[in-house]
Parts: sequence; C-alpha cells; structure tokens
Amino acid sequence: MNRYNKLSFYWKNLFQTRIQKIPLDAGFDCPNRDGLISRNGCIFCTLQGSGTGLGICGMGLREQYHYWRVRLREKYKSCAFAAYLQSYSNTYGPLSKLKATLNQLLDLPDLRVFCAGTRPDCIDKDKARLLAGFPADEIWLELGLQSANDKTLSLINRGHSAEDFDRACDMAEKRGLRICAHVIAGLPGEDINDFADTVLFLNRLPVHGIKIHNLYVCAGTTLAQWWQNGLYTPLTLEEYAAWTARAITLIRPDIIIHRTASDPAGAELLAPAWAEKKNMVINTIDRILENNNQHQGQNFTKLTQHGTPRL
Ligand code: SF4
Repeated sequence: MNRYNKLSFYWKNLFQTRIQKIPLDAGFDCPNRDGLISRNGCIFCTLQGSGTGLGICGMGLREQYHYWRVRLREKYKSCAFAAYLQSYSNTYGPLSKLKATLNQLLDLPDLRVFCAGTRPDCIDKDKARLLAGFPADEIWLELGLQSANDKTLSLINRGHSAEDFDRACDMAEKRGLRICAHVIAGLPGEDINDFADTVLFLNRLPVHGIKIHNLYVCAGTTLAQWWQNGLYTPLTLEEYAAWTARAITLIRPDIIIHRTASDPAGAELLAPAWAEKKNMVINTIDRILENNNQHQGQNFTKLTQHGTPRL
C-alpha cells in the first residue's frame, strides 16, 4: 500500500514509464557564496553546492545528460528522463544566461520532465516565464525553503526569509511552474514541532511537491566545525524517521513527496553514519507509517479544524 504520494509512482502513472532524474551542473553560482549576500554559504553547503561536479570537470550539459542516460538505460532498460539543473542556484544571474542554458537542453532524447533548483531570491517573473516555456511535459521549480522559521534561517545563514519563499512560490506558480519545496529536518535549534510547522506553512502555499532531507554534516562546512566543537548533534535515525513520519501525516494529501532521505556523497560525510544508507532510512520511515497505520494527510483535515497538536 502506498502510504504517501511518492514521486516515482506519480510519474509512472502519468507517463506510463519509469522516469529517472539526471542531475546536471550548468556552472551557476549562488549569491550566498559569491559575496552578493555572503561568502560563507548555508552552514551545511559543500563546495559542490549539492551538485555532481561534472560541470567543473568541463563536461557540457548535453554531454552530462548523455553520460547519465547511457548508464541509467543500462540499469533500467526502459525509462525516460527528467533533466535536473541541480548544482547551486540555477536561475541566478542574467536572464540571458538562463536562456543560453535552456537552449543547450533542447531536443534531448527521452526527456519528458525538466526541473531547476534555485533560491527564492533568484527567481523573477521573466525567469519563471522562460522556464515555464521549456518544451517538456512537466516543469518543476525546486525552491529551497529549509525552514519556515526566520530565526533558524538566520542561524543557518540562508540569506532569505520564509516570506521571500512565500512570494517566490506564489509568483512562479502563477506562471505555470510546479513548485517543489526543499525542507530539512534536524536543523540546529529545531525540534519535531518546528519541523511540523514548516510542513504546515507549506500546506498553505501553492506547492505541488516537497523534498524532505535529513541534515547531515559534510567535511569543510561551517556545520562540520559546529559538530566538531560539540555545538551540533545530528538526529538519530529513529528521531529522523519519527519526525518525517509525523510530517507525512500532516502534509496536504495532493502534494507529491519527491524524497524522504538525503543522499550525501560518502567521501564528504562526517555524521551521522546512518545518512549513507538511504534505502534503510526510507524503509524505517515506511515501517513506522505501516506499523501505526498512518498515511499522508491523515492529520491534515483534523489540523484545519482543530489546530496543530504539539508534542
Ligand atoms: S543556497 Fe544552496 S548553493 Fe547557495 S549556499 Fe545555500 S546550499 Fe549552497
């Protein structure tokens, strides 16, 4: 039984075939790293900005797409693809740069879906319109929120507010983009109720998808220094799974859940060790839902009537 709207099932249903995401590195920067907002980045950001690093190795976008396409086809035989501009903030900079990037991705074989990851302060009406016009069957804008709590956003050096996210989300959705919000469980100073509040904040916005990450510590980040100095302790697997299972029961029933576990690069990961075992994390969450006979949105209706029960 599907206890929540998993992206893989949603796409299989929609396209009648498996859709595999291909991560692309288009060489964009981020205002939170290049000095426009800050030079330090978010406390958890690694040098690769969540990317594959293939762009830095000099591989062009089409080449990256084909590189992954060949490998994924060998593994899955029959599937189509979602091109995902993943690294850093992919709508940062002038409109012409985004236009040139999208032009490189035209007419790629088996491309059905297009996704672009960015920050709420890097998207405007013209860029949203440009993205919405890309010739794919579905276009997703993956927008980083991480937390709906401005104090947390300031602590983790995001350089934007929850209201910035709200505004960007509304503007982009009105221009035809499907919005996937990125959130993190286990941020410094947050508890299970803060994480639930972030989900409830998203329920009120025109969001179509949500990506849930567990916070993990990577070498070379500010968070690594905090962790080494005893200023940050990652969640245990049991805590993360419980937080996420509860969040799933609160998420609006129509929202597609793109992810319930992070996928850190093993070489960079310092803690927690369990973060490396993505499938185990997903299975632990699924087991909690199964054992408690819970499903997505089961508490959403209750909440709209009675408010949020705090734990
Ligand atoms: S917005 Fe993304 S790329 Fe920019 S500093 Fe934060 S995590 Fe890194």
